[in-house]
Amino acid sequence: MPVLTVAEPVRHTEVFGSFDVVVLGGGPAGIAAATSAARLGASTLIVERYGFLGGMGTAAGVTNFCGLFANRFGKIERVVHGIADDFLRRIQEIGGLKAPHKVFGKICAQAYDTGAYKIAADAILLEAGAHLLFHALGVGVVMEGPNKISALLLETKSGRRAVYGKIFIDTSGDGDLSAWAGAKYEVGDAAGAVMYPSTMFRINDVARDAASNRAWTTFPALMEAAEQKTGQKFPRKTPIIRPQNNDIEWRANMTQIANPDGSAINGIDAVQLSYGEVEGRRQILHAFTLIKQAVPAFANSYIVDIPPQMGIRETRRIIGDYILTEDDVLTCASFDDTIGVNGWPVEDHVADDIIFKWPDIPGSRGFNHLPYRMLLPLGFDNLMVAGRCASMTHGGQSAARVSGGCFVMGEAAGTAAAMAISGSGNVRNVDIIELQAKLTAQGVFLGRDQ
Ligand SMILES: Cc1cc2nc3c(=O)[nH]c(=O)nc-3n(C[C@H](O)[C@H](O)[C@H](O)COP(=O)(O)OP(=O)(O)OC[C@H]3O[C@@H](n4cnc5c(N)ncnc54)[C@H](O)[C@@H]3O)c2cc1C
Repeated sequence: MPVLTVAEPVRHTEVFGSFDVVVLGGGPAGIAAATSAARLGASTLIVERYGFLGGMGTAAGVTNFCGLFANRFGKIERVVHGIADDFLRRIQEIGGLKAPHKVFGKICAQAYDTGAYKIAADAILLEAGAHLLFHALGVGVVMEGPNKISALLLETKSGRRAVYGKIFIDTSGDGDLSAWAGAKYEVGDAAGAVMYPSTMFRINDVARDAASNRAWTTFPALMEAAEQKTGQKFPRKTPIIRPQNNDIEWRANMTQIANPDGSAINGIDAVQLSYGEVEGRRQILHAFTLIKQAVPAFANSYIVDIPPQMGIRETRRIIGDYILTEDDVLTCASFDDTIGVNGWPVEDHVADDIIFKWPDIPGSRGFNHLPYRMLLPLGFDNLMVAGRCASMTHGGQSAARVSGGCFVMGEAAGTAAAMAISGSGNVRNVDIIELQAKLTAQGVFLGRDQ
């Protein structure tokens, strides 16, 4: 069926401003990118559609850092540093950071409070001198030739605006900016299937002994028993239900959001997203009802939060000069142009379950390098991409998409953008040795000591 269209009148769009570096999207990658570019003196604007930063980390209620640690020859060590250190210190100062906890006994993750995350992110960016524009949805670009972007177009509460930039960093998670500019991208695995999204929720007023009794270990068996008793299936095995910083509050990551035909919701399709938001809340009620009835420690508990949006794990992945693969993750690959490391395993969200694949433990160093080239969309001179929409295969992205990898990519992109501004203006001409020296001076671990 032909798509109906309407011709809009030609318009002149008010210019909001001109910046050295324009960052679209305020998730972990965008926070790190804008902070590092601004710290190095580039005039930097970060544009975010919500009224707060954090991306999936806050807007989708993730509330837990993965990817900061690696299992190095059997020993779990923190391997992501740099801006991540400053940011976590801030969250800790506000009292919103829990001590790291073990995951499958193989690696660590670390829970945080959403409020503290948002406040810490504002502070770190403003102190760096970055400009923040909230409630602004990126909607398109103006090109200066086929390979160079000159302006980002926004719809804001005060109307449509244009922002000129010298370097653009796409940290939208969905690769929006790159796609509008004409960059090549992929969606999903070889069959086009993306990882399933999940709607997170948090539960409050849980009895404190649930945390000390490790109640989270009981949920898979409870779910199985409930399925047998009621004949109603939970959409996903492997629930992740864990205490937050305050033991009376737990986060639940146990839904799996599919279309009526069973395929994963496409996070760049508004109609599917609308269906999925409702379906997520339906699944939450089903799951919470079981938890409340079956676990005495949850008898008085209630749903304290369903975040602003369902959690999207994967949409567009922009094709760059190098494409990080699942094999790179599993073999702990090294690259000459390393900008930092990923120590999180492959974590694929398939129909009904999660599949984890790990590098050799304890026989390997447990992390792969992330190469600078994965931040460079093919053929562009003033565009970089960082975070979950960077250049990775479906399998590679399932690992490096978590917060740790996003901080690493973001910090490197922002640093390289600032270097390009004081150099040729072309992100492809950035001297890798100099970039690595700057990142090391900023505290980043490049993964070169083994
Ligand atoms: C359910 C779920 C559970 C997860 N669990 C964990 C976990 O436990 N630990 C962990 O570390 N990671 C986890 N992840 C992964 C992790 O949260 C994300 O992969 C990570 O946040 C990606 O960061 P990002 O900066 O690339 O993009 P995002 O976090 O997606 O941020 C992108 C930002 O850009 C903004 N944006 C997008 N498009 C536009 C536009 N056109 N205009 C303006 N703004 C725009 C968005 O509002 C958002 O703020 C989970 C993900 C999901 C979905």
